[in-house]
Amino acid sequence: MRMAVRRERLCLRKPFQTSYGTVSERQLLVVSLTDEDGVVGYGEAAPLASYDGVSLGRVERAIELYRPILESDDAGRSGAEIVDACRRADDVPQAFAAIELALWDRAGHRIGKPVSALLTDVPAMDVQVNATLSALDRAGAAEQAAHAVERGFECLKLKVGVGDDAGRVAAIRAAVGSDVQLRVDANGAWNVEEAVRSIEELAPAGLELVEEPVHGIEATRLVRDRVASRVAIDETAAEHGALTAKVADAVCLKISRCGGISGLLAAAALVRASGAEPYIASTLDGPLGIAAGVHAAAALASRGPLPACGLATLSMFEDFDDTLVPMRGQIAVPSAPGLGVESL
Ligand SMILES: [Mg+2]
Repeated sequence: MRMAVRRERLCLRKPFQTSYGTVSERQLLVVSLTDEDGVVGYGEAAPLASYDGVSLGRVERAIELYRPILESDDAGRSGAEIVDACRRADDVPQAFAAIELALWDRAGHRIGKPVSALLTDVPAMDVQVNATLSALDRAGAAEQAAHAVERGFECLKLKVGVGDDAGRVAAIRAAVGSDVQLRVDANGAWNVEEAVRSIEELAPAGLELVEEPVHGIEATRLVRDRVASRVAIDETAAEHGALTAKVADAVCLKISRCGGISGLLAAAALVRASGAEPYIASTLDGPLGIAAGVHAAAALASRGPLPACGLATLSMFEDFDDTLVPMRGQIAVPSAPGLGVESL
């Protein structure tokens, strides 16, 4: 196999504010793997240093360490063996996720099937997704919420821990009525006492779930014991033992943090076995990362209930031709071979 790597950049239409900082652009690495027959697969690394502490340069160094593994002519290795060898060479999930995605994409192109059909016999055809509301003021949040519901979204997600949380939540609920699910994400902005107080303040508006109110397994357990709202972990899911810790009602999984599609599906199986619900979100990934999330979600949805996934984020980028546009709150799983989207 031959590997090529390039940097790509996507700018957000508007800076996106979260409790861990403001994101105004995304730098991604696009990896292509070309096999001896000329079949190409594309993957993508989407680290976000302010969020996961992993820089693009760190991922680039890891991928260069993978090059001799990928370009050796050791025929007959499975994709899983190649990814395992990469992990042993440098254990950076954001980096070997790019390799893993490219191997799935290439495998799909080789046999002319979408990745979802390689993952399960009966993949879902559509995946329910949430709309992401970015406005920091009440009127703006209400307007975004009403627009999203008009477009058919049944689940809205709002970052909290960034200012007037109670005012925005109340304004959104007033704008969309009681049937729409409202998910909030604090990105661990609160300590236990702040989280309990904030959730009690927001809960009367009706919350589908509160994602990452605090960081850490034990802190999450303390919060969940004291609130009636459903609690999810996201960043905390990276902690050793978190997937089976039974401290949350739901667990947000990410392609880049799980090291690709296989790692995500394995994590989701652990979560389900422990009695919680997995769902998938992106870290403002590019098209290949989002497509990988959609294919993984199609496999998960065929095996059990799947809450709305945070994969409707490509429309936040400017000058970008999005082919994974949600319709009526759902993204259609690509039916073309491989991941089914163009690389940047
Ligand atoms: Mg989150």
